[in-house]
Amino acid sequence: MDKHTGQRELFESRPAWVEDDLRRGTIATVVMPDGVDRPLDYLVPEGLAAEVEPGRRVLVPLGRGNRERLAYCVAVRSGELPQHPLKTVLGVEDQAPLLSQRMLDLTQWMADRWLARRGEVLEAVLPAGVRSSRRPRAISLYVASGQTPSRRPTPAQTAVLEAATAPTSAEDLARRSGASRAVISRLVRLGLLVEAGTVSASVQRAVRSNDREKIRHDRPETLSEPQAAALEAILDPMRAGRHETIVLFGVTGSGKTEVYLQAVEETLRQGRQAIVLVPEISLTPQTCDRFRARFGSVAVLHSHLTPAERHAQWREIAAGRVGVVVGARSAIFAPAPRLGLVVIDEEHENSFKQATAPRYHARDVAEWIARAEGVPLVLGSATPSLETFSECLAGRWKMCRLADRVGGSQLPPVVTVDLRDRAARSRGSVSPRLAAGIKWALDAGGQVMLLLNRRGFATHVQCRGCGHTARCPQCDLALTLHQPGSRGICHGCGLVTRVPSACPACAAPQLVSRGTGTQRLEDEIRGLFPGARVARMDTDTMRTRGSHERTLDAFRAREIEILVGTQMIAKGLDFPSVMLVGVVHADAALHLADFRAAERTCQLVTQVAGRSGRGSLGGRVVVQTSTPDHPAIVAAAKHDYEAFVRSELPIREALLYPPFGSIVRVVVRSVDERAAADWAGHIADRMRKEAGQPEGSAAAVRVLGPAPAPITRLRDRFRWHLQVQGPDGGSLRELVRRATAGLQTPDNVAWIIDVDPVEML
Ligand code: ADP
Ligand code: ZN
Repeated sequence: MDKHTGQRELFESRPAWVEDDLRRGTIATVVMPDGVDRPLDYLVPEGLAAEVEPGRRVLVPLGRGNRERLAYCVAVRSGELPQHPLKTVLGVEDQAPLLSQRMLDLTQWMADRWLARRGEVLEAVLPAGVRSSRRPRAISLYVASGQTPSRRPTPAQTAVLEAATAPTSAEDLARRSGASRAVISRLVRLGLLVEAGTVSASVQRAVRSNDREKIRHDRPETLSEPQAAALEAILDPMRAGRHETIVLFGVTGSGKTEVYLQAVEETLRQGRQAIVLVPEISLTPQTCDRFRARFGSVAVLHSHLTPAERHAQWREIAAGRVGVVVGARSAIFAPAPRLGLVVIDEEHENSFKQATAPRYHARDVAEWIARAEGVPLVLGSATPSLETFSECLAGRWKMCRLADRVGGSQLPPVVTVDLRDRAARSRGSVSPRLAAGIKWALDAGGQVMLLLNRRGFATHVQCRGCGHTARCPQCDLALTLHQPGSRGICHGCGLVTRVPSACPACAAPQLVSRGTGTQRLEDEIRGLFPGARVARMDTDTMRTRGSHERTLDAFRAREIEILVGTQMIAKGLDFPSVMLVGVVHADAALHLADFRAAERTCQLVTQVAGRSGRGSLGGRVVVQTSTPDHPAIVAAAKHDYEAFVRSELPIREALLYPPFGSIVRVVVRSVDERAAADWAGHIADRMRKEAGQPEGSAAAVRVLGPAPAPITRLRDRFRWHLQVQGPDGGSLRELVRRATAGLQTPDNVAWIIDVDPVEML
């Protein structure tokens, strides 16, 4: 048979005399982590053929100098070699593939979806510790062997054996049983304890925090009706092995997290793994604690892990020894071999979009993965993004509503205070209504949260004489005044300067601080309520590790009565004694040059308002605003986020903004303003030219700009930007790809492409 086909090939496809020239071999396609964009082919020498495979890294010669470089092997094929000579793979770096075929496919899709370089996507998907393959320290686990002891065990031995029903480290066995390490060693020698694998040091540490006292074991007996329906909506596709995206649209306190927890329970029962994404680990300690409290093997991937620890986690997950992965954005790449469920909590948060290349959105990545694996994706929020909302309205995703709080507490009434009204402003940044609300809560023994989304003391420093505003010397941003020490801090680049006492422009000694930041608000509150215990939570006070948790613990223990803070306080917190939430300046971010400004404002105000009145004492919300009639404010004040969605969607549709179209934003930076403007202009011209020759749906493409970016200068670089918009993301990206192909960027210019940006400054 072999001989037969061989001969047929010889006669039918090629004359015999060509055969001599025909070279066959194995070719590896590799992607460089940086430098070269396109994939390159290399010949695989026979000696390495068994080891070169997709997902491993290989050593290859690059360029004229044949410098040795590490590259990702993304494909291997055997067959005819091309006419031109190929360079040869020099070695193989990894002992096993770092990336499965599915992850390789994902990186290809991501590169297309966000116009990113494949190499940088590959690097983003793998944690640094894995790439540098630092070996983590491993710890042995022990389990009771079940063997009948020849002599009656001592009480200490019995205690250890009882603690060793599941694989446990010697350290934990000693702690739980109260026995010494010597007892454990003896049991191992007697064969009553046996080794049951190893676990790396950091996972062990993560699991151990289970025992932290403050965690409540609070699995409720029954679910509310909407919770049960939501859980069923998740378990139904899960049992059928089918992908589906389920959106839990529920007010804070409606029991969404409990639904995630029980869906994860079922996932583990099926012997599968779950990935749970949260906006930021340090801002959601309560959520993480609840997962740790409920499940044994939880890997919490937070930003304080060392590369070696990260690597350890990665290996434990890849080996299937970790059931639940909780982490921020990049945890979506956790290499779970038996993935059964993906959950994204607070799915509307911006932090799910990466701000540096590759500028991917974890929600889209999660959908791709969940679809490929045939597992449910759960998105939860009290204020779903408009993208998510419109998927539900279109019937592609399933929305489950959890309209009421568990336990029946009512959403608190909201009072809006019109700041344009003179009487409202008579007491600095705290109106009489707000002050009265605070007093009411304190008198009733409740707690207060005040949101002001601007840190620092004053938002700017201005001369009363000539109007001059102190600005950062390297950014086009007003300096924020921070006390003590009259420091002017730039919130763009972090530069700290001393604010002079006289105006640098007219020399008049009339510099005054204007606008209130959280620092000044804290001072003001202390002045108004001298007896109250006040604390502030913003990035200035939360610099040191653990400070965030300490403040929240103190608030929970009611050592703090009034908590002043930025949006940090709006996230994932559940404090039953909060009776008043005050939003000091609701429209602070409403008028930014960003089409998402209204959405973001409505989300923030709705979220923070939901923190009030979660306990039996009831609660109130006071919202101070200069635009009380804005739909974002009106909706938030009525706890009717959906009303805002209904008013906002037609606006987006008319302007072809997401979710009705796609946007590609280009930002050009240069120390030379002319150069930035020229290059932005050049790119815009090329986009227009491509858009002018319509192919299919690219006809409706709009090019906006170039124009100076809203922040026109940052860290001494001038910034210009342009936008391309179109109804169809795929053809829009194709257009951008064509327009930017082969561009030779001038030396003094840098530029980036952001597909479907979440931030337009
Ligand atoms: P969300 O995630 O929507 O803010 P949670 O899941 O945190 O809501 O639930 C709010 C509070 O209600 C939590 O303290 C939680 O333990 C409790 N809870 C949730 N579901 C139930 C239930 N079915 N029965 C009793 N308590 C519940
Ligand atoms: Zn600056």
